Amino acid sequence: MQRAEGLMIQVILTAVTELQEEQQYIKKKQEELLKKARSLQTVQKDIVELLQAMVEAGGHKSAKRESKEKKARECFECGKMGHIARHCWIRINRQRKEESQQAELQNYEKRYEKPDEEEICDENEAEVESDVE
Ligand SMILES: [Zn+2]
Repeated sequence: MQRAEGLMIQVILTAVTELQEEQQYIKKKQEELLKKARSLQTVQKDIVELLQAMVEAGGHKSAKRESKEKKARECFECGKMGHIARHCWIRINRQRKEESQQAELQNYEKRYEKPDEEEICDENEAEVESDVE
């Protein structure tokens, strides 16, 4: 009987130790989960902020947000970041060049077209110019 009781105590002690170990393990896991929950909260906050930004971008655009968007945009014209093709200087410069070249060509044609009828042409020239504008 004595021996059996001693064995029982041993079994109980082992069980208690195991329980304590398990408790510590659970505590550790709990802490890990808490950490995870906290980082999840941070991610959730980021997502909420992102969604809010999207909603606001869909509605009114603040200057700050618009410039932020512009920074993220890639230009279809030159492939650079920070502006869109509509605002691309390469495109604007090229268009200006083309326009001035066209204007020069028109002036050249006007100047050297029918030089004999210059006096009569003055009226037509004025008409052409107003048409161009
Ligand atoms: Zn560009």
